[in-house]
Amino acid sequence: MLAHQRNCNVPKAGFLAWPAQRTGRALGALGPLAMPAMSTLFFNLDGMLFRCLVSEWRSLLSVSPGCRDLTGYTAEELVGGTNLSLASLLHPEDCAAVRGTILAALDTGVRYCMEYRIVCRDGEVKWVLERGIGLRDDAGRQIIEGYLEDITDRVQAQIQLAETELRYRSIFENSVIGMFQSSENGRYLAANQALATLYRYPTPEALISSLADIATGLYVDRRRRDDFKRLIQHDGLVSHFESEVLCRDGSRIWISENAHAVYAPDGALLYYEGTVEDVTERHRYQSVLQHQSTHDPLTGLPNRNLLQDRLEQAVQLAQRQVSKVVLAFIDLDNFKVINDSLGHAAGDELLIEIAARLRQVLRGVDTVARYGGDEFVLIMGDQASCEDTRHLLERVLSSIQEPLALAGHALRINCSIGVSVYPDDAQDLDSLLRVADVAMYHAKKSGKGQYHFYTRDLNQIVQDRFVLESALQSAIERNELTVVYQPKVDAASRIKGFEALVRWNSAGHGLVTPDRFIPLAEETGQILAIGEQVLYAACLAAANWPLIDGQTLSVAVNLSARQLKEPRLPAMVADALLVSGLPPDCLELEITESMIMGDVEHTIHVLKSIKALGVRIAVDDFGTGYSSLSYLQRLPIDTLKIDRSFVSGCDRGGKAMAIPHAIIFLGKTLDLYIVAEGVETEAELAMLSVCGCDEFQGYLFSRPMQAAAVADYLQGCLS
Ligand code: C2E
Ligand code: MG
Ligand code: MG
Repeated sequence: MLAHQRNCNVPKAGFLAWPAQRTGRALGALGPLAMPAMSTLFFNLDGMLFRCLVSEWRSLLSVSPGCRDLTGYTAEELVGGTNLSLASLLHPEDCAAVRGTILAALDTGVRYCMEYRIVCRDGEVKWVLERGIGLRDDAGRQIIEGYLEDITDRVQAQIQLAETELRYRSIFENSVIGMFQSSENGRYLAANQALATLYRYPTPEALISSLADIATGLYVDRRRRDDFKRLIQHDGLVSHFESEVLCRDGSRIWISENAHAVYAPDGALLYYEGTVEDVTERHRYQSVLQHQSTHDPLTGLPNRNLLQDRLEQAVQLAQRQVSKVVLAFIDLDNFKVINDSLGHAAGDELLIEIAARLRQVLRGVDTVARYGGDEFVLIMGDQASCEDTRHLLERVLSSIQEPLALAGHALRINCSIGVSVYPDDAQDLDSLLRVADVAMYHAKKSGKGQYHFYTRDLNQIVQDRFVLESALQSAIERNELTVVYQPKVDAASRIKGFEALVRWNSAGHGLVTPDRFIPLAEETGQILAIGEQVLYAACLAAANWPLIDGQTLSVAVNLSARQLKEPRLPAMVADALLVSGLPPDCLELEITESMIMGDVEHTIHVLKSIKALGVRIAVDDFGTGYSSLSYLQRLPIDTLKIDRSFVSGCDRGGKAMAIPHAIIFLGKTLDLYIVAEGVETEAELAMLSVCGCDEFQGYLFSRPMQAAAVADYLQGCLS
């Protein structure tokens, strides 16, 4: 409301009357009119009230005092001056537009309103809002009465806003990362080109209009949209939210979303907005890695990691269904021999073939995993009965036993299987595997190509074995193992040397025979330490034995398969000879046939380097292994020891003598020295001597004796 003012004139004409004066100043350029009610407003109004002629020049007839602040010109300068007018203030670029607006308004007789720039007295450019209306004055001239308001600040803010928006729009539109705004009900409200391209749409508009429901139209797993919303609701945002999505062309990609919710001031959800990145490559790479970390690269079967998962799943299912899970531990028989003799490529081929056969035999729900080297594990859930399991195991055995061609050889492979059952035998993978391994071990021992279910007494065997292993370890560490010596004599019963045999007189276990602890030590690797101790002890003992008939007696030391694989074996033998001072040809190392059959080339190489020291080599227990005669020819050996089993009872002659006879004949042909072991009777001795056997060892002459007893024994030989 306008306040009434004293000293203000009553307006004469027009929609606005100019007040005559406020401070007693002459009316002058302010114009002839005044309206008492508005004089205060007139004099104090920011901006400029004006009256001008309707002409191109728009000469001003009167202005309000606000003109000074607005333009820098006084009212006197603006009104009636020859150089100044409303048009002269105009920014040159806006002249045409202003003129056009005014003419149009005058034509139609309506009020106009426009924004444009003026150039002030000091050259400053200001934005003004001009509102006006055309009318006629008392003289009948066409005039305009109007008001100019300084809107520079607002316009500049608008310009700034527009520029900012433009900048953001540019980021949005030109970003290489997909961006979106989506409604809660699953529609895109906005999307940029990058997102459209990502989802194989030509334009953002096409994406927005075609994709009616993100949950069903985009995500491969429609529950992802609910996950997305739930996460945002819970955490306010989602970050690195990865999902597989369906593109317009039907292809699938993996995306990673970062998004948050935008809320109205009253807390209502307006929309979600966020970014989308294509992570398909990374995902593919990850799945390759994932596959690699869970599968065996050679056979493609699940590895131990995945086996663990699968067993857990099977156990959970069995718990729910109150059923059983059967775990079978499979170990191929003689795989090592094949690997060593036919080469690793053939070994690999064999494993691949076995894996394929196992896969074929099992049902889809079962798991077959490669556990290590030649070991496979089967997990069979939901086994209806023990009978079913047995049938399946029979099928596994016969499938593996099927003939196969490998590196040009037709082979038959066998395997031994140990079986454990959840929950009867154990509760977790490690324990199930452990007891299945125990059962497998037992299967192997009772003849290859068999399966064996785990039973509690087997566990006792394993526990005993474990206890024995620990006791053996401390015996080795405390040097509790001793060496006994068994004489070897010639046909005339003259002493030629001794075989060194290890003994373990355990405090807790009593006298443990080598048959019990040597195979165990082989498995655990403890045989390396034992072998070393025996070698040094035997060499030192033999070096101190007196000469018999002017000759140093020899000592035979047994080697294990493990020792033969030790690269430092030749050096160790050389050192034992050096340390003891024993002449090399007085040391004989005994190897068994099965040791030769492993890696023949390697064995030949190692034996040659030992032989080069001057040490003799004997093949022990000859006739019980599978040595090929052609290998015998190539090996640098000196002696064959006929196994005790052929010696025992050979005096019966006929068939009983056939094998010892053949061995002696073969050995002689190859120029080898022949020793018969386990000679217990004079008759055996006589029979073997007749056939040409060179040396004899057995209870007939002496049982193995303590080192200390050897001196007395030899004394007896001398006297
Ligand atoms: P081996 O090398 O064939 O040793 C001969 C085995 O036959 C010895 O058993 C010996 O006591 C036994 N023996 C000798 N004469 C007779 C006989 O007339 N009748 C009968 N029934 N047995 C006889 P021992 O000492 O129990 O050794 C068994 C096996 O343990 C050895 O067979 C050898 O393979 C292994 N062994 C013993 N000591 C060592 C060692 O220091 N290192 C390695 N690697 N193995 C060893
Ligand atoms: Mg021996
Ligand atoms: Mg032997």
